[in-house]
Amino acid sequence: MPDLRTNLYDLTREELRLLLVRWGFSPVHAARLWSYLYLGLADSFDAMPELPAKARDRLAAAAGIGMLPTALATDSADGFTRKFLLALPDGERIETVLMRYTGRVTACVSSQVGCAMGCVFCATGQMGYTRHLTPGEIVAQAVHVARALRSPPPIQCQLLVDVVGKTHRGQHGPSGDPTPRLRNVVLMGMGEPLHNYDAVMHAVDILRDPNGLALGAERITLSTVGVVPGILRLAVEKRPLHLAVSLHAATQAERAALVPAAKKWPLDELMAACRTYSEATGRRIFYEWTLIEGQNDSADQARAVGHLLRGLPAQVNLIPLNPTAGYDGTPTRGEAAKRFQKILAEEFDLPSTVRQRRGIDIAAGCGQLAAG
Ligand code: SAH
Ligand code: SF4
Repeated sequence: MPDLRTNLYDLTREELRLLLVRWGFSPVHAARLWSYLYLGLADSFDAMPELPAKARDRLAAAAGIGMLPTALATDSADGFTRKFLLALPDGERIETVLMRYTGRVTACVSSQVGCAMGCVFCATGQMGYTRHLTPGEIVAQAVHVARALRSPPPIQCQLLVDVVGKTHRGQHGPSGDPTPRLRNVVLMGMGEPLHNYDAVMHAVDILRDPNGLALGAERITLSTVGVVPGILRLAVEKRPLHLAVSLHAATQAERAALVPAAKKWPLDELMAACRTYSEATGRRIFYEWTLIEGQNDSADQARAVGHLLRGLPAQVNLIPLNPTAGYDGTPTRGEAAKRFQKILAEEFDLPSTVRQRRGIDIAAGCGQLAAG
């Protein structure tokens, strides 16, 4: 039987207040409930002693806390990455990743079960599309990661954090902070977030709430395959988030071979939308480029991306290809990646980074998420 009760994770603080007042509760109860959900990370109404017992009973009859049970949790060998396979109420499953850096943690969350965009090198694309996630299912992933931080990290990770903490003492604030908190959310898990625009933006509003998880403007990054109408809508709505656009190739023909969605939203339309977005918001866009040996990592291709992004506020994020079952490519090696970066920097004054390879041993890297 489907649970027809309201999922509280679906609601912004204001929506929760209005609903509770409609149900006859006071705004004070609503504020307490919100704190229990997002500061206390409570998993049941029984864990809310400051709400009167009668109120808790009435709430439990009409509403649920849509936590997602863990079907499987896996830690990378270095202890820095933990991947959760989470069960959705209808039996579908998604993956969410916790990534530890010194003193802070990033959650990589999914926006759909599978993905309809079919990028050839992506495990999520290879599994096809099943459905959109609800706002509450997106929020629940961030809460899940925040809750996981309450238990101590794997021992090998503690040792590494210790060493890194000592090495960087003074650079990273108070060293040895025992409980790093959830600092960033990246919408880079399974799915195409701009294909599920309304639910994703609703979830972003809930995650940003300063009285809750407080993942403010600079803390949420959304990565899109290049859904042009979504980028244009973001330009109008000026949502406070970082935008990353998956480029991977600088000509329409090369891009369409890797990213089928490019046939629907061609490169020239995509670049026009990116320009509109940057002009409207004053924000720089991160352009992602999965580096595949012999495919899109030559000096000429580096120059082509340099020309394409000329004059735009941009940073390029290079991601050496991660292995997936359905694609046969090889990641670009370190030297070739450095040459690519050097061309961007020296010939085009274009900043770039090579994304740290984390969690590859547990298939938690970019493009490796899938849930059978
Ligand atoms: N759907 C969004 C976000 C998902 S993945 C998007 O496509 O942008 C985040 C990044 O990982 C994207 O740039 C994506 O193209 C890239 N990616 C996908 N598969 C990959 C793989 N096998 N190796 C490296 N990067 C990959
Ligand atoms: Fe979907 Fe992004 Fe994977 Fe492409 S890279 S298939 S858009 S999740």
